[in-house]
Amino acid sequence: MNIKAIQTFLQQQTASDLYRTRSITDSPQGVELTLNEKPYLNFCSNDYLGLANHPKVNEAFNKGNALYGVGSGASHLINGHTRAHHQLEEELAEFVRRPRALLFSTGYMANLGVISALVAKGDVVFEDRLNHASLLDGGLLSQARLQRYQHSDVGDLESKLSVSKANDRLICTDGVFSMDGDIAPLSDLITVSSKSNSWLMVDDAHGLGTIGATGRGCLELVNASVEDVPILMGTLGKALGTFGAFVAGDEDLIEFLIQRARSYIYTTAMPAAIAEATRMSLKLIDNESWRRDHLNENISYFKHGLEQETEFNSTISNSPIQPIIIGDVQDTVHLSEKLKHAGILVSAIRPPTVPENTARLRITLCADHTRQQIDQLLEALV
Ligand SMILES: *Cc1c(COP(=O)(O)O)cnc(C)c1O
Repeated sequence: MNIKAIQTFLQQQTASDLYRTRSITDSPQGVELTLNEKPYLNFCSNDYLGLANHPKVNEAFNKGNALYGVGSGASHLINGHTRAHHQLEEELAEFVRRPRALLFSTGYMANLGVISALVAKGDVVFEDRLNHASLLDGGLLSQARLQRYQHSDVGDLESKLSVSKANDRLICTDGVFSMDGDIAPLSDLITVSSKSNSWLMVDDAHGLGTIGATGRGCLELVNASVEDVPILMGTLGKALGTFGAFVAGDEDLIEFLIQRARSYIYTTAMPAAIAEATRMSLKLIDNESWRRDHLNENISYFKHGLEQETEFNSTISNSPIQPIIIGDVQDTVHLSEKLKHAGILVSAIRPPTVPENTARLRITLCADHTRQQIDQLLEALV
């Protein structure tokens, strides 16, 4: 890239409605949000359980801050790993029923770190076509061969596996797909990975806290053990309402990552106060299932309303992520802008985040949305 090429690129992005801009948020995250000093009804947050600004989570954060100060001052391996981080790791491991968990500063970094530590040249990473960018980037960084299989198509994966002569094989999938809201075919993936002696890694960024009878995520749906799914990644910035991520697995895997995952080793530990806040979120998720119940009621109510009252179709998604596929980029942007004029925030998702011709409105539902608020969205969609 030179300056001229950069300018040309920016002009092209504008001309094709693909230019990305940021709005400025002036309030805490919540179903009601202030953006550029104007109030909106928010249908694009990942704060599915309303914990990002929960009084108890805030209080835990403040206590952690009083105890440890703001900055962790060093990486985990030097002396940034506080008792708060350590306790959170133990509680996360217990929550997802795995022997160990390891904190990373973000989900993006967790995926880069794990994949590039586990596979290298001569190995193959198999990825669902619709995996999150961070899983794909982890594959690229590792220098293993990257093979993408058709979305949720275990037959396609199996045929790719059957001709593979790689030393080591790693299968990576989103648990809940972030732009479609559907859930990966986990039982079949478990069968195929164990038959082919491959690693299986599930990124449950959107499932943790929202999916499963007790909110333990997608793996709870199929009761997957650590042998079934040896690598589980979860993020803390979505349903848990804070920031950061973790990888859970058996003792040896976690110890190996501590030695070898570069995005774990060469970075400052997250602030301890974040760890304390997250410990509180986890407690609330465990003890107060009503948030998940509300969320599920909201999802059903929205899907039913979309089918009955609007011209749009709901998809197979039963998760908090409810896409309305429009196709055309301009139409999608236009619809999102019209909703914004009506005081409703719904994001327009465009290529390259989603495949060509599948631009969409991506609605996310939260436990705190009221029926009236969902009605307001449905009326606007009509
Ligand atoms: C959000 C997300 C990530 C990235 O997590 P961050 O903590 O935000 O970096 C990774 N994978 C999936 C599927 C996600 O939705």
